[in-house]
Amino acid sequence: MTDLERKHDRTPVPKEWTYAPAPESREVVSLDDRYGHYVGGKWLEPSETYTTISPATEEPLAEVGQATPEEVEAAVVAARDAFENGWSGISAAERAKYLFRIARILQERSREFAVLESLNGGKPIKESRDVDLPLAAAHFFYYAGWADKLEYAFPNRRPRPVGVAGQIIPWNFPLLMLSWKIAPALAAGNTVVLKPAETTPLSALLFADVLRQAELPPGVVNIVTGDGRTGAALVKSEDVDKIAFTGSTDVGKAIQRELAGTGKKLTLELGGKAANIIFDDAALDQAVEGIVNGIYFNQGHVCCAGSRLLVQESIYEPVVEKLKRRLTTLRVGDPLDKNTDVGAINSAQQLEKIRELVESGEQEGAEIYQPPCRLPEKGYWFVPTVFTNVAQSYRIAQEEIFGPVLSVLTFRTPEEAVEKANNTPYGLSAGVWTEKGSRILWMAERLRAGVVWANTFNRFDPSSPFGGYKESGFGREGGRHGLEPYLRFDNGPSHG
Ligand code: NDP
Repeated sequence: MTDLERKHDRTPVPKEWTYAPAPESREVVSLDDRYGHYVGGKWLEPSETYTTISPATEEPLAEVGQATPEEVEAAVVAARDAFENGWSGISAAERAKYLFRIARILQERSREFAVLESLNGGKPIKESRDVDLPLAAAHFFYYAGWADKLEYAFPNRRPRPVGVAGQIIPWNFPLLMLSWKIAPALAAGNTVVLKPAETTPLSALLFADVLRQAELPPGVVNIVTGDGRTGAALVKSEDVDKIAFTGSTDVGKAIQRELAGTGKKLTLELGGKAANIIFDDAALDQAVEGIVNGIYFNQGHVCCAGSRLLVQESIYEPVVEKLKRRLTTLRVGDPLDKNTDVGAINSAQQLEKIRELVESGEQEGAEIYQPPCRLPEKGYWFVPTVFTNVAQSYRIAQEEIFGPVLSVLTFRTPEEAVEKANNTPYGLSAGVWTEKGSRILWMAERLRAGVVWANTFNRFDPSSPFGGYKESGFGREGGRHGLEPYLRFDNGPSHG
């Protein structure tokens, strides 16, 4: 026996060990029992309310308003008033100052916001803390920089604000989507009425306090909470000049129908079914991390999630084996625990949708793999799942699941990879893993996706435009492009 073996013999090495709990403190967040709508810089008492909960525990967190059409109209009137009587008239450099202030306050209060985002939405605290909050602040910083440079961004086109923007956001990145929408709108000189998603209103309501701290003039940003009826009322409001919507393709289509012929500007950021394509020359360990990040980040509640894995046939076995092994190390549980990788599903309704689609995958003949995993008893949870033996026609390969569920398909040649990747009604994002730069460019030219990531996935930057093709919507958010939908031009063409 060698010395090393003898030593191992004597040293008790535990076979299994787990991380000790590392919960983030909830003390940094103080919630009111009841919230109204933030209209004209004041809290408007709501006529109806509902209870918002924590999806990880089903614990009620607060009562929030369910805005009626009249309450939505009050917010639109406040936004119009602020637009006509002040905001559109102040200097662009002054507007920038407010945006810089908001960005700095978000940074200062980032821990409080991160905890609240995880509490109300179910996402792991390490994601809220390290992704949502830094990016939200970065968007305000970025667009603050553009506010007084619009003439340079659009030379010879005389950019002007459009007026009142109605903005409807989903529940997967509540504060980040708020920033994607509010920052460019204000930089361009508009005023806003924002409706957060029914299940995740709290960070938007806390954001109202940031606006107060930043001394933003009353009415420039108004926040009305409620379900789809509130969103529909905002779309219908006659005095709104532009609607920006992020959410499901079905609701996006309904909004487009509603606005047809009204002359209102519209941008839609809808669903996706992204292909994450792994070639046999890719660095496999990094690619597996990219696959995991692509689909299990934020429980797969990501419009650009890499939910279809396309693996070159020659490396199918090692990739699937590495992936399954990696899945056993994902920690699913308390979103407020700093060691958690996969948090709670956002709502009972979304959990039901995931379950239904997963069942369809099994029935259609795909092979399911789920790592051993003990889920909390209360709350909404779903084990990270991989499907192999998936045919392109299966619902799990076609429909957006919006959960931690990956479908694995294979390809032989780059042409076949492109054909399969583009075989979807969506076109939001795609990933390519290969060591050849020329192949990355060849693929990027052919993939019908708004964003193509190379040897990485789910990377965002405020300076980079984001948006889709086909049923993933139209218009771009982020970058200089993200200003355009909030502007009209006295000179030259107007888009979006
Ligand atoms: P929705 O499209 O219903 O929700 C997005 C936002 O629109 C929410 O604020 C919602 O309010 C609001 N809304 C709902 N109905 C209307 C309407 N008729 N007019 C105006 N606004 C409306 O998405 P769901 O939350 O129902 O999720 C369903 C599916 O959509 C998911 O499973 C996923 O596949 C996809 N989705 C895609 C997202 C993306 O980023 N592309 C984000 C969210 C969902 P309320 O929350 O009260 O319903």
